Amino acid sequence: MALQQKGRVDELLAHFRGDVLLPRDPGYDEAREIWNAMIDRRPALIARCRSPEDVVHAVKFARKHNLLVSVRGGGHNIAGNAVCDAGLMIDLSLMKHVQVDPNTRRATVEPGCTLADFDAAAQAHGLATPLGINSTTGVAGLTLGGGFGWLSRKYGMTIDNLLSADVVTADGTQVHASHTEKEDLFWGLRGGGGNFGIVTRFEFQLHPVGPEVLSGLIVFPFDQAKAVLTRFARFTETMPDELNVWMVTRKAPPLPFLPGEVHGKEIVALALCYAGDPREGEKLIEPLRGFGTAHGEHIGVQPYTAWQQAFDPLLTRGARNYWKSHNFAQISDGAIDAIVTYAGRLPSPQCEIFVGTIGGQTARVAAQAMAYSSRDANYVMNVHARWESAADDERCIGWAREFFARSQPFASGGAYINFLTQDEVDRIAFAYGETYQRLVELKKKYDPTNLFRMNQNIKPV
Ligand SMILES: Cc1cc2nc3c(=O)[nH]c(=O)nc-3n(C[C@H](O)[C@H](O)[C@H](O)COP(=O)(O)OP(=O)(O)OC[C@H]3O[C@@H](n4cnc5c(N)ncnc54)[C@H](O)[C@@H]3O)c2cc1C
Repeated sequence: MALQQKGRVDELLAHFRGDVLLPRDPGYDEAREIWNAMIDRRPALIARCRSPEDVVHAVKFARKHNLLVSVRGGGHNIAGNAVCDAGLMIDLSLMKHVQVDPNTRRATVEPGCTLADFDAAAQAHGLATPLGINSTTGVAGLTLGGGFGWLSRKYGMTIDNLLSADVVTADGTQVHASHTEKEDLFWGLRGGGGNFGIVTRFEFQLHPVGPEVLSGLIVFPFDQAKAVLTRFARFTETMPDELNVWMVTRKAPPLPFLPGEVHGKEIVALALCYAGDPREGEKLIEPLRGFGTAHGEHIGVQPYTAWQQAFDPLLTRGARNYWKSHNFAQISDGAIDAIVTYAGRLPSPQCEIFVGTIGGQTARVAAQAMAYSSRDANYVMNVHARWESAADDERCIGWAREFFARSQPFASGGAYINFLTQDEVDRIAFAYGETYQRLVELKKKYDPTNLFRMNQNIKPV
């Protein structure tokens, strides 16, 4: 392939501090592997950047040689856009520096950081910003799509806490975007995904959190699912912002606090976190225990960083994954019936349906204040098909699609772009809703040739 001719690669290497990998190089296969094993693509080149200047050189090189570009942060995105076939993969995963200023409660974070990297650095000062629930996820992709997790009801979406970003735009220029500089770009970065440039540094607001928080799981038998879900739906409508409760229904993993005979059987679990005084939290969570007759619970005061990693063992890389997602303003009886029906037909031991609760502070921001516009989404439902063998693809994907269609009438509109799969290109405009047209205008301004198109793409037309 022409690109791999020595002269061309030397041209990139002449300016590059990081590593450049060709398909024949050791480490190439490891670098192109991402979280979702359904995605198996082979870039012509992988540019493993170590600095913003490396990113500039990679972008200019891609433009000069008219290469398809993909950008990898944490490599977690379900659609697999971090890696491309036959183009240039710009891999940021070596850029992992986090700097925390405990006085101003601000952090600067490089785009290769995982949530675990960021949480660890901020929690060293008893601080945190809202991130997701799986610590191996990348800060970059999560932030650019919106970002929500245990702290979001109290402190908002991740983007609500983004103060500024350094960006390499499609023409290879380095710019700074904030509330006072390049405000239009800053608006678009907060939910617009990787469409407008490559972020080389994020600056976040931090808040006092923990460092120990009341958190854990209560696990109910599946035959009580309807009652538990109905009570969950009502309870979460009025709980205080400090409390967050999510629901997951799946086959029970071999958790030590569950009786052996429950392992591998369908269950309904409530996962909770209280971002305040644990004694206050204990009183508030007491009603949850009365939602049914639990198989068991594991709730206690533990380091926030430990709770942030609690789901990691269920979400390891290397499995095949297919997701579908709806936003809900409320969890209606119809939605509950659909969840119970399809959770009763799980096609593999790792499939699950979860409902992440947001609302609270996330809903107090105007829908057009930034690119992410789903401020009426009090819940984000994700049907998470996950399995090991390609032979099960059709069965597992079919189950997710059927449930998605069955639950659609109860959804509130919009969608979380970070949960869209590669076959949902037709849902991108729907996901953004009222901010989509402004995003198209912004794309025309910052990336008129659509260099950055391996993403939930906003076309400049
Ligand atoms: C197991 C699991 C759990 C999750 N839990 C949550 C959760 O609790 N809350 C939540 O909000 N989301 C959650 N997500 C979704 C997650 O936010 C997205 O998958 C996100 O895209 C991951 O970011 P990444 O950097 O790891 O991904 P990557 O695949 O590396 O990047 C995704 C896309 O973002 C863009 N991108 C990445 N880095 C940059 C950059 N520096 N500049 C410009 N564009 C860039 C690119 O277009 C890239 O294709 C979860 C995902 C998984 C797989």
